[in-house]
Amino acid sequence: MTESGHPGFALNLLPHLLSWQDREGVVVFDGEGRLFSLYHGDSLYRRGLDGSVQRTRRVPTDGHLVRSHRTLDDREARFVFTVAWEWAKALEATVRESKSPAFAGQSTEGLIKRLRQVLGYTPDVLFQERERFSALYKPVSVLPPDQYMALVVQLTHGCPYNECIFCDLYQDRSYHVKSPTELKQWLPALKKFLGRTLGMRKGIFLGDGNCLALPARGLLPLLEIVNSAFDGDAVRDKGVFSFADTRAVVRKSREELSSLARAGLKRVYLGLETGSQALLSFLRKPGSRDEQIESVNRLKAAGLQAGVIFMTGIGGRRFAQEHITQTVELIRSLPLGPGDLVYLSRFYAIPGTPYAQEILDRRIELLGDKEVDDQFEQIRSAIRQEGVKVAPYDLGGFIY
Ligand code: SF4
Repeated sequence: MTESGHPGFALNLLPHLLSWQDREGVVVFDGEGRLFSLYHGDSLYRRGLDGSVQRTRRVPTDGHLVRSHRTLDDREARFVFTVAWEWAKALEATVRESKSPAFAGQSTEGLIKRLRQVLGYTPDVLFQERERFSALYKPVSVLPPDQYMALVVQLTHGCPYNECIFCDLYQDRSYHVKSPTELKQWLPALKKFLGRTLGMRKGIFLGDGNCLALPARGLLPLLEIVNSAFDGDAVRDKGVFSFADTRAVVRKSREELSSLARAGLKRVYLGLETGSQALLSFLRKPGSRDEQIESVNRLKAAGLQAGVIFMTGIGGRRFAQEHITQTVELIRSLPLGPGDLVYLSRFYAIPGTPYAQEILDRRIELLGDKEVDDQFEQIRSAIRQEGVKVAPYDLGGFIY
């Protein structure tokens, strides 16, 4: 490991990353040499494992600087890859020619070796990495914001329900459960693809939308296979995480949930969306309000943490008052405590979904921005449980 602070630049060389900072910006490559991020000009560019590139910058909005995210098209992504590659090339030349003691001895050789790996990832090779990713993964549609650096292990693909009227996350795939044999073949290929990048990943997230829908007798053997594949890897230290719907949780006994906790499961994220039973029914969300409460009770009794997700603005004007009142009432009734999370996600109707059709047919009237902000504040300020973190769930910043 080498870390060098030096007038004009800062270098960090670790097994799982190489970063360089100077007056031009900051560039980070993963342990295999693939571009991870580039801070240049007024923008941060992040490249996901899936090969997509997202640009984030602050733009003035209503007198404030607000973060704006955008996924780049291929031409723009190639430009970013080229800037980073040329930077690495110039850096390699600088290191070779430098008499600076910062590059003395072993670290110089190590740095040049790593930079050569980086230079092997030309823009064309980085584009080809997308195919390697697609051969391994179905698209990773979403993760909770605290899990963006988790390693996604797709024990299942899609959502077994797929009928909530606002959701299109997994409409592109049928629900599939990997067999133990399939999983045992998939995990070594995943580890090979990740290489030293695995060291950047914190925790294991079980994909996709509702892995806990699997009965415990099917899930536990798969978890054991995952645990043994990553035995000794730091990625397991943070724990194992998953989305679930409330019914998937209440169908499991306390003993089954405790077994999952002993197998490493740490926190389960439940898309509760609202505390209003009428709105839940309108959204065709699986599970009742009673099941919402019961599912959190069961998780907590089994020693698991809960991440509960609600949406602000959903249901429009028709459900607005009931949504706020009953969501607040629900949250207050949940046994949340330290380690638990409440996410408030601003709802946007996705074109093509039945919910968007409800708007077009004028059965739902959208709320204004200020009204949605007020919903966020009213729900946030009503959370009284000590030690519970409340945060916005900003889908715009997601990249895997
Ligand atoms: S249960 Fe979750 S993932 Fe499945 S359709 Fe509903 S919101 Fe989407």
